[in-house]
Amino acid sequence: MKLYNIKENDEQVSFGQAVRQGLGRNQGLFFPSSLPKFDDIDQLLAEDFVPRSAKILSALIGDELPEEKVLEMVDNAFQFAAPIKEVKAGVYALELFHGPTLAFKDFGGRFMAQSLAAVSDDGKITILTATSGDTGAAVAHAFYGMENINVVILYPKGKISPLQEKLFCTLGKNIHTVAINSDFDACQALVKQAFDDEALRKEIGLNSANSINISRLMAQICYYFEAASQMTKQQRENLVISVPSGNFGNLTAGLLAKALGLPIKRFIAATNANDTVPRYLETGQWDPKPTVATTSNAMDVSQPNNWPRIEELCQIKEWGLDTLGKGAVTDEQSAESVRELYNAGYLCEPHGAIAYRVLEQQLQPGETGLFLCTAHPAKFKDVVDDVLGTDIELPGPLAKHAVMELLSEELDNDFEALKQVLRRVQP
Ligand SMILES: *Cc1c(COP(=O)(O)O)cnc(C)c1O
Repeated sequence: MKLYNIKENDEQVSFGQAVRQGLGRNQGLFFPSSLPKFDDIDQLLAEDFVPRSAKILSALIGDELPEEKVLEMVDNAFQFAAPIKEVKAGVYALELFHGPTLAFKDFGGRFMAQSLAAVSDDGKITILTATSGDTGAAVAHAFYGMENINVVILYPKGKISPLQEKLFCTLGKNIHTVAINSDFDACQALVKQAFDDEALRKEIGLNSANSINISRLMAQICYYFEAASQMTKQQRENLVISVPSGNFGNLTAGLLAKALGLPIKRFIAATNANDTVPRYLETGQWDPKPTVATTSNAMDVSQPNNWPRIEELCQIKEWGLDTLGKGAVTDEQSAESVRELYNAGYLCEPHGAIAYRVLEQQLQPGETGLFLCTAHPAKFKDVVDDVLGTDIELPGPLAKHAVMELLSEELDNDFEALKQVLRRVQP
């Protein structure tokens, strides 16, 4: 697989380099130089999720990794289903939250962990990351138990929800969690300081599990095929997919699935009040406003970092505006849609409800609608209970971790102290 840097086109890398580096020069994103095209989609869709996903990813990766290796990686990463549920005639929810941390980020995070392990030469890696909650959990679970890879996660002590803390600070083994006596910005600054320390970086094989890593997007392509495979041929030929978007990785993956040959009629970019992209599609002006806090807080992003990839792909494929619908939804409207879905017999949290709402408004007769449910309702229990007057139950993984012992160590906002921790825990 060859990829180029969108900003500095002369920088060309392999899959392995792109996975290890994350970003290119000048903070440029990597993009595939060519995309395979599957001619017999029906045959591909007839296969099971894991072997089909391995075929798709192997076609993308090319001869850099043997097909059996890719199959093994996919098998390790995708150990949970992505079912579709009909919520009303012709409208389906794609449930992406059956992984260990109850959000779609498990798909990308776990495949990235497998990829990193597969392309690292001597294998000794320390992943260092700062989290304000969700990313830390996905990263911790993705790398849990992997040999020669240590994960160190910093988070601000007392500033994430107790349940979130339990979800990733109770694992042990190669997952080291550090509660910093400060705020999230301080945690991020410590991470940055570590990456700026060339000697330390070499010594412990420092790497970031960055959210713009191409391997994440590649993994996410696979569940679009999985959704289509659960529909009849007639349904999927008129498919409109609505994606609740923050950094726009999920939508990028959907568009890549279309480029590989999956017959998707169009997509809808659904956002909350952080509506930089819907406004851009309307006016042609890229004009990010300060980020505002909403009840769908995983989408509180006003400068979506994957957008350049979408522009690149639409340009390459010469896709016009009819490929991409858009809509921005307020907290009140998303609450309304959570209620509407609940009354129709489907429990949904605000992120999925936003995608549903815009889909509802724009779906035409004869089309099949699919909206992505990116998180388990219990993950946003506070909001959901508040809107519905319910007391929803915690699913297995959360309930299990809720009673486990916290294993974090506490540290002051002190780089020298952090360095000692990093040296102590290295593989
Ligand atoms: C990360 C996240 C999103 C946004 O996904 P992007 O790929 O960044 O657009 C939506 N919903 C949930 C629950 C998320 O965690």
